[in-house]
Amino acid sequence: MRRSVVAGNWKMHGSSASIAQLLDELKALHVPDVDVIVFPPSTYIALAIERTNGAAIAVGAQNIHFETAGAFTGEVAAEMVADLGATHALVGHSERRELFGETDATVARKFSAVRRARMTPVLCVGETLAEREAGRAEAVVSRQLDAVLQSADAATVAGALIAYEPVWAIGTGRSASPADAQEMHRSIRARIRARFGEAADEVRILYGGSIKPSNAAALFECADVDGGLVGGASLDAKQFIEICRAA
Ligand code: PEP
Repeated sequence: MRRSVVAGNWKMHGSSASIAQLLDELKALHVPDVDVIVFPPSTYIALAIERTNGAAIAVGAQNIHFETAGAFTGEVAAEMVADLGATHALVGHSERRELFGETDATVARKFSAVRRARMTPVLCVGETLAEREAGRAEAVVSRQLDAVLQSADAATVAGALIAYEPVWAIGTGRSASPADAQEMHRSIRARIRARFGEAADEVRILYGGSIKPSNAAALFECADVDGGLVGGASLDAKQFIEICRAA
């Protein structure tokens, strides 16, 4: 039985005051069967860890660099956020791929770096609308997945989180239907099974893309959907709490 996970990606939003307040509200959340993770901007990771102290809320980084140290102005190593107490890191979010030119190869290096720092990677994959309309959704997601799976072992993959986030559903208010989400999650798990056997049954695969309190339960009911990665709605404590309860 896989435990559900609900993660909030706060993107480049917030201030020390608003983040402290949001976390104080989230501390009221009592969902013992759900793993809850928040991804604040990196400047607020330390604050978030301090503020969640004692609450069952993990804190992660939205992005890391794959090197451990060096002349990489503006970058932050996985080891540095782990040193603060972060336990997870997103890799391959579509905004990183689209806006910052991250390739499958970069994403694979970041995935390994997160593991090297003894954190849990949350690998984001997903197709654009044009790719879906061209009937290439599964091929694109498989390519993104294979780039990482080819250099990972079964234990690493079993312990990772995967987030299927169709790009056309992110921040648009238009989520995938439960049937479409389930179909892609099933295909992701089948691809992992083909390579790593039963480790595939342990991998938790989250859906992301315009999750709201009104659509969360139907998505989370799907057999291969093990929770969600939530953007916009995670900035509102009431909505995020409702989504966590739906899981
Ligand atoms: C995201 O950015 O990962 C995301 C899922 O955003 P939203 O929920 O706003 O679509």
